[in-house]
Amino acid sequence: MRPFDSFVMIDWSGGNDTGPKPRKDAIWAAVHRTTGAESPVYLRNRQVAETWLAEFLERELAAGRRVLAGFDFPFGYPAGFAEAVCGCSDPLALWDWFEARIKDAPHANNRFDLAGEINMGLGSGPGPFWMNALQRDVAGLPRRKDDYNNPFAERRAAELQAKGAFTCWQMAGAGAVGSQVFMGLPVLTRLRRHFAGQVAVWPYEVLERPVAFVEIWPSLTAGPAPDGMIKDAWQVTEIARQLACLDHDVLAEMLQVDAPEEGWIFGLGHEERLRVPAPPPLRNDCFALPQGVHWTPVDEALALLKERLVPMTAVEGIALEQAIGRIAAQEVRALRANPPLPNTAVDGYGFTGAKAEGMHDMPLVTGRAAAGDAPGSVPDGHAVRVLTGAALPVGVDTVILQEDVQIANGRLRFSGPIKAGANTRDAGEDVNVGDVVLEAGRRVTAADLALLAATGISEIPARQRLKVGVISTGDELANVGEAVAEGQIFDANRPMLMGLIGQFGHCAVDLGRVPDDRATLRSRLDEAACEVDVILTSGGASAGDEDHVSALLEEAGAMALWRIAIKPGRPLALGLWDGVPVFGLPGNPVAAMICTLVFARPALDLLAGGGWSEPAGFDVPAAFEKRKKAGRREYLRARIRKGCAEVFASEGSGRISGLSWAEGLVELCEDAREITVGDSVRFIPFGSFGL
Ligand code: AMP
Ligand code: MG
Repeated sequence: MRPFDSFVMIDWSGGNDTGPKPRKDAIWAAVHRTTGAESPVYLRNRQVAETWLAEFLERELAAGRRVLAGFDFPFGYPAGFAEAVCGCSDPLALWDWFEARIKDAPHANNRFDLAGEINMGLGSGPGPFWMNALQRDVAGLPRRKDDYNNPFAERRAAELQAKGAFTCWQMAGAGAVGSQVFMGLPVLTRLRRHFAGQVAVWPYEVLERPVAFVEIWPSLTAGPAPDGMIKDAWQVTEIARQLACLDHDVLAEMLQVDAPEEGWIFGLGHEERLRVPAPPPLRNDCFALPQGVHWTPVDEALALLKERLVPMTAVEGIALEQAIGRIAAQEVRALRANPPLPNTAVDGYGFTGAKAEGMHDMPLVTGRAAAGDAPGSVPDGHAVRVLTGAALPVGVDTVILQEDVQIANGRLRFSGPIKAGANTRDAGEDVNVGDVVLEAGRRVTAADLALLAATGISEIPARQRLKVGVISTGDELANVGEAVAEGQIFDANRPMLMGLIGQFGHCAVDLGRVPDDRATLRSRLDEAACEVDVILTSGGASAGDEDHVSALLEEAGAMALWRIAIKPGRPLALGLWDGVPVFGLPGNPVAAMICTLVFARPALDLLAGGGWSEPAGFDVPAAFEKRKKAGRREYLRARIRKGCAEVFASEGSGRISGLSWAEGLVELCEDAREITVGDSVRFIPFGSFGL
């Protein structure tokens, strides 16, 4: 059996439309692929869900992915029911039977009436279906306390084993699955028909097709939802993850069950294998530097970030119009060729084949082929007027420019030679169907939007924007615009860091400023960890009395104090607070900005689901001279004038004006010692850092 690539889990609902706002007891779907998870999708009614499922399956099949689709309602009834109702014990015949009878609209359906009709048709007294959620009585359907008789088994074998599972005979009441079966089987039946030959239903059919429909029961293994998350959304997400994490052979073994009529609940009897906790995305020691090194070189520190950081953001489908600047979560392939049909690259006249040297004269057909026209046809030996972008009519493969011809009396005259195919574009010469048009991890550019649109992509799987919180620390800080006491300074870092994060393409969240007070900082970090994906702090990151960022991270047992061989730069405190990465930047604005560009930016890119980014620089002659310590990398505020790199007059790390003066950084490598005017130095424009 070929392994599954995608797992889509659906929490079904037998009730009416639940409105536009995501809520519980609605239909929820979650997708987990071998390449990562998507955020759960809220589906307000079955019509929306059916369309969503059909489009999802189309997309997965087109991409060559094998799909396991799980639905949380019974696929069959206790033995004898199918035979009694539709005259055949084949459960899939019963699916068809339901599909032919259920009428479903967002705000009304006939499930209770049908249950009553079935009861009456069986003629065995009031039952097996019971419970009516309507005001009116339904013929043949007993309410909870009425007389009741069930000629079939009260529960399926699976329900006897699954403690807490509801019986399929109960049509209403919280958690009752009876209605879900009535309202679910018709949808699955139509999907089976729509994808004829590509869907196998478990455990009735051999799972050799690209799509498998499997009965699941999320409460079996999902566990409680985290605070603030809708239970249904959590459960499908969790089950999809559990299934996707299973080893293929184990999954295949778990799918071996024998329940020819009633069906079975996937995973029953294998709960422990499924209840594998999700690994934390980052380990507590993810920022640990090699032991015993006093000053770590910049490249070593960067290599470590590159190796250990993984995406923290969920995936969502995003419409093309909103996709600029977003990071693709998966590669995207062209649905349409560009150009889709062979067409003319110029305004002129089209005909078939090469023409030799000398004069040519041929009749023109009436009419013309313009851009957007469906391709017509032109008889052999004739020519047709064509306009740029028009699909070539059948019988045309060569075009001559209008400037090179004479037209008279309905005839075209020109002198050869002209090559076959001249002035035309081949179908797919730019992009073919199935070509990759967007790599996973790429940040979508305006040019990408053109390519995606041209190739028929209206929506892409994108990472949600990384939420980056910014906190300033220090008793000396006041917000600009507020009164400052003597001895205070305005908080310069927070506006700068907020701006940088926005320019990097993330979502910057202002978490304010905290004094040098451990308890206040602790509670601010606690709040922040619930709200954002990453936290940037400035100030208080060294190992002094008032360096509370490093002290708290140390206390949490997840801190690495980075002493990097870099100037400007003081120690950085990196760590996790409740699993959220914290970058404790130095307080000095110059060091804070440079450490952000050099360390935080590539790290944030990885956490956001993008690739590793190395800022592109180029070598230019120095317009300055300088001596420096060997063994340390230095970044100077710089700009290019007359083809040479100038540096800011002062290297003082409190000189904010120099940051603003600069247009980039000169990077002096570790072993450089003396730079004289005219020496080649590496200049990295701020643009290379995404600014
Ligand atoms: P610290 O890293 O907290 O020891 O601070 C180092 C230097 O940076 C001190 O001179 C601070 O006053 C200054 N500083 C810290 N935070 C900020 C800020 N948000 N804006 C401007 N200067 C700051
Ligand atoms: Mg401070």
